Amino acid sequence: MDQEQDRTYDRDRAHDRRIAELLARMTDAEKLGQLQQLAWTGDTGPGGGQNHLIETAAREGALGSVLNLHGAAHTNTLQRIAVEESRLGIPLLFGFDVIHGFWTTFPIPLAQAASFDPAVAERDGEVAAGETRSNGVHWTFAPMMDVTRDPRWGRIAESCGEDPYLTAAFAAAKVRGHQGEDLRDSRRIAACAKHFAAYGGAEGGRDYNTVDVSEQRLRNLYLPPFKAAVEAGAATVMAAFNTVSGVPAHAHPHLLSDILKEEWGFDGVVVSDWNGVHELITHGFAEDAGAAAGLAFEAGLDMEMVSTDLADHGRELLRAGALSAGRLDDAVARVLRLKFRLGLFERPYVDEGAALTGPTAESRAAARETAGRCVVLLKNEGDTLPLSRALSSVAVVGPFADSTDLHGTWSGPGASRFPAVTVLDGIRAALPDAAVVRHAEDHDAAVAAALSADLTVVVAGEPTELSGEAASRSDLSLPAGQEELIRAIAATGRPFVVVLVGGRPLTVDGWIDRAPAVLAAWHLGIEAGHALADVLFGEVNPGAKVPVSFPRSVGQIPVYYNHENTGRPSEPDEPGAPFTSSYLDVGRGPRFPFGFGLSYTDFEIGEPELSRDAVGVAELSRGAEVEVAVAVRNTGQRAGDEVVQLYVRDRAASVVQPVRRLRGFRRVTLGAGQSEVVRFRLGAEDLGFWTNDPAGRFLVEPGRIDLYTGNSSRATARRTLTLTP
Ligand code: BGC
Repeated sequence: MDQEQDRTYDRDRAHDRRIAELLARMTDAEKLGQLQQLAWTGDTGPGGGQNHLIETAAREGALGSVLNLHGAAHTNTLQRIAVEESRLGIPLLFGFDVIHGFWTTFPIPLAQAASFDPAVAERDGEVAAGETRSNGVHWTFAPMMDVTRDPRWGRIAESCGEDPYLTAAFAAAKVRGHQGEDLRDSRRIAACAKHFAAYGGAEGGRDYNTVDVSEQRLRNLYLPPFKAAVEAGAATVMAAFNTVSGVPAHAHPHLLSDILKEEWGFDGVVVSDWNGVHELITHGFAEDAGAAAGLAFEAGLDMEMVSTDLADHGRELLRAGALSAGRLDDAVARVLRLKFRLGLFERPYVDEGAALTGPTAESRAAARETAGRCVVLLKNEGDTLPLSRALSSVAVVGPFADSTDLHGTWSGPGASRFPAVTVLDGIRAALPDAAVVRHAEDHDAAVAAALSADLTVVVAGEPTELSGEAASRSDLSLPAGQEELIRAIAATGRPFVVVLVGGRPLTVDGWIDRAPAVLAAWHLGIEAGHALADVLFGEVNPGAKVPVSFPRSVGQIPVYYNHENTGRPSEPDEPGAPFTSSYLDVGRGPRFPFGFGLSYTDFEIGEPELSRDAVGVAELSRGAEVEVAVAVRNTGQRAGDEVVQLYVRDRAASVVQPVRRLRGFRRVTLGAGQSEVVRFRLGAEDLGFWTNDPAGRFLVEPGRIDLYTGNSSRATARRTLTLTP
């Protein structure tokens, strides 16, 4: 153990002693109270919600946590009641959904994933944590790490897309960004890995829907990001609304206890989702509220958000033996441990004079930089982009041309107070005063503006309310009138560019052939317009890649790169379509595959060079690694970023494997003509897979593994690694 680990260990032991002392003094009612989280709904919230219950419960020691309350003064007022007026003076925990920023809105998580640069997510997570904690909030319900293959699902906006490896890297980075080294730090907050588990697998992309999943798929696809988050020290985990193979995740002992707490050794808090315990009744899993609480807490849940089933029925459950005293104490100990880790017993109040009240110049600069790193160049015919600053007239048209609706779903309190920079304003600021910038929204005016401009930027897409929770869509084309607008602009014969905003991959086949250049701009946050202008005018050379496949049509969904082998050829570019696993009426593979994105320059990526061609499985299990070196060269005329990607394919395995699996990626910046060798290390964890054994069996089998390198999931440069016994 190094010194830092030593200190953490000592602190944990000291906490354990104090927790034991507290538990010995607590009544059952006080214990049950620690497991209750109530929601503040704001003074004008629907019916006042639970506001009227909160003060009394805090005074009686019957409340562990409050969500959705923020503001240094307000949290202090309530904290004072808990600490100074309740019998044991146990501080409250304040939680809030800080998903991609508090005051400063960063790009939505899906956009951040497109950066293929977890370091920026870590930095932005830290900025958000500082703004949040200074306003009295200790805990965010983020990061969301639900892998999903279905863009109809609105919460794909909150995810990192379709790949477990990429999602895991972002999950760990965000946990580190939020939590730092020490949760007592007044600029850090506890993270929450959510939603455990497989929420992104909802049938048909309909939010909250059923997930029926084999153990191997659960462990190979949905769980790796959670494991990574737990390993990175995530303080809390949130249960998912869905069922997993017939059992609601909120009452799933295999997930919450066997895997999370036993196998992974998670010693933090498992919180329910909003009303998730009470939903066990609507799920048809529990007869009534008492049964719901018993099933959820016995399965391993530690805190109930909003519904009060445990608080209402806990004592009768204890009497009837439907909730054991040991499980109750364990849940309470976990909640108290989190409060100790956050230093709340020593410093329950927040310094009201130090509360941050809005974005700063630095946080805006960070948001702008990140946003620029998230924009994906989907198409660029004849080098339409970047635009010249010498253009004398530009038309900026379309429903999002002058829209501030660029914050995206689950944006923090900053979104209502600090409007996002519009694309129009961003373009105006980027051009000299003499340039004419015309703005038009509706069809005829937009066409007229395009006809009289050197170039037109069409800002099209999906408004925030069409993505996010409960915002599933069955049609992923541009909302009404927008495709017609693009076609009309194309018909002018004048040059134009499409900027595509939204919370998910949209289907673009209705118009993309007519658009010379297209940028995927997601919802980029507060600095969206500036960041887009940076990209449009070449200040920033786009280097992002799509973190999820763009389908050609909705009927093709789910379409994703890491599908399992079938008995039929499955390489997307292989000739010979008949009797393959694809559709007759739509091309094979997605419109844009996972990992794809263009640049204003060109790159050449070499074949994977292996430090050895063969390695023993036994050696791997003892920690041996194979180094993979990949040369990348900027062969174009300007500096730019490339994401070097490494995929593996197991040729024959006892559990059929995906045709490709991402196992390494690195975003590099190279000047014109410059080259670099990127090195990856592959170990047992990268080369093996989980089996269907519910007890959790990870196998690395002898055989051949093909390694592919390139700049998308279509990477073709190949070498083979042999795994010997
Ligand atoms: C969402 C969670 C969120 C919670 C609290 C729920 O509806 O599913 O992700 O953290 O609300 O706002």
